[in-house]
Amino acid sequence: MEVAVLRERHGKAVGALGRCRLCPRVCGVNRRVGEPGFCGAGLSPRVAAVSVHHGEEPPISGSRGSGTVFFSHCNMKCIFCQNYPISQLGVGVEMSTEELGERLLRLERKGAHNVNFVTPTPHVPQLIGAVLSAREQGFALPVVYNSNGYDSLEALALLEGVVDIYLPDVKYVSPRLAGDASSTHDYPGHNAAAISEMFRQVGPLSAWEDAIANKGVLLQEI
Ligand code: SF4
Repeated sequence: MEVAVLRERHGKAVGALGRCRLCPRVCGVNRRVGEPGFCGAGLSPRVAAVSVHHGEEPPISGSRGSGTVFFSHCNMKCIFCQNYPISQLGVGVEMSTEELGERLLRLERKGAHNVNFVTPTPHVPQLIGAVLSAREQGFALPVVYNSNGYDSLEALALLEGVVDIYLPDVKYVSPRLAGDASSTHDYPGHNAAAISEMFRQVGPLSAWEDAIANKGVLLQEI
């Protein structure tokens, strides 16, 4: 995507924070003035860790690792969450989109195959802003959207042409279980719709000759 188009998309995405509908919870809060919704995420990116990760799916990690950005906050509340302080208490560091863009450039310089945004759903505008900032400085890695699969069509529309590889979870097909274990009874329907939209945007997984993914959808059944 051209930088000018990405800039326009970023403006639209930041505007969406004024009445947040970035995930199916449609809280409607004004995150631009710090009003918290279900996830607790705010206006600026909040990041728990940035590192080159070798434990991702093989087509994503490859031999040189995946440049991973672990966002704080989450739009689900899973009783089995392994990252409770990060997902529910917001442990992490607040930074500007430009600072996050600089981190993406550093991951590229370290040789990562891609940049991999983990739990990105509440941070879609900030993700786009960071990619924009990095692209303006020549960043060229594929972008991986590694979500819990509870994504809205509205947010995915903002990501069309920005994300190269979707890596969503498929956590539940039972509304009862999704409600009991993750306080997200409507997960199955939204998850199925989101995955259909992801496939429409980027199709099935494709890879370079060295088997490293460059585009498509890779489902994670959890
Ligand atoms: S991203 Fe957060 S504030 Fe926005 S709708 Fe989802 S849970 Fe609510």
